[in-house]
Amino acid sequence: MNPSSLVLSSVLAALALVPSGALAAPLRVVTTTEDLASLAGEVGGDRIAVESIARGYQDPHFVEAKPSFILKLAKADLLVVVGRELEIGWLPPLIQQSRNAKVQVGADGYLDASLTAKILEIPTGQITRAMGDVHPLGNPHYWLDPDNGQRIAKAIADKLSRMAPADASYFASRYADFDKRLAEAEKRWDALMAPYKGLKIVTYHRSWPNFVDRFGLDVIGYVEPRPGIPPSPGHTIDLIGEMKRQNVKILLVEPYFDLKTPNSIGRETGARVLVMPPSVGGEKEITDYIKLFDYDLGLLVAAIKETRAK
Ligand SMILES: [Zn+2]
Repeated sequence: MNPSSLVLSSVLAALALVPSGALAAPLRVVTTTEDLASLAGEVGGDRIAVESIARGYQDPHFVEAKPSFILKLAKADLLVVVGRELEIGWLPPLIQQSRNAKVQVGADGYLDASLTAKILEIPTGQITRAMGDVHPLGNPHYWLDPDNGQRIAKAIADKLSRMAPADASYFASRYADFDKRLAEAEKRWDALMAPYKGLKIVTYHRSWPNFVDRFGLDVIGYVEPRPGIPPSPGHTIDLIGEMKRQNVKILLVEPYFDLKTPNSIGRETGARVLVMPPSVGGEKEITDYIKLFDYDLGLLVAAIKETRAK
């Protein structure tokens, strides 16, 4: 065989590895959240077509299932989920009804992003839903640490490279570029938050453990007595007492919770009630993963300065 036919035969061999049409058509990626869609887009670029099922302003534990979601899943090559049972209340019937073998749990086109992430609050005792706990397998809001954002992006890049080996170097270079931009952003965020190490806050839901760990804040209590359980008068009174004792002046509320209880806590304690989106798409300016932290940290620092100036 002469060298040129050798080259030709290896090109043909490479083509044979991918299904016909795959070279032209981008991989169809569906994610459960906009955070995952943003990270997938960072590494997948124009070789994927990505869309999210949930919107960033929705509570990701409770998403209303629509027939259009089943259609998206029916056509997907890859489904990326947050995992840790975040989507347990709505995703399993959608996957089943899609009848798409590629994206069933455990199939090659199913990626659980939590498997390579750092997960906090993993319960050690017996796991029970008797108390209505929506975090039975550890805290599923782990994307709110940029280190986990990097890990998720890497896991998606690796998965895409296995699905489309001809584009592996493209995904690797996209990942490297994202990693560099994220590292630069992290320096900026660390400098912004450095003056506020140990600052005590209260949050509505347990959405922020990875976030506060990363940026050095201290959550002393929650408006929900337990994750997924609405506030009760007794718990609210205890929380107000604790906030007064510890002089807590910031109360973070995710955009999808009722502000009635937070506002009354704010009136009692003088704390600033801050609606802070935990996801890409939570506000129209938050169009990607890096902008999520820019937005939230900007909001938080402005509120801290305001409460200190009082
Ligand atoms: Zn949660």
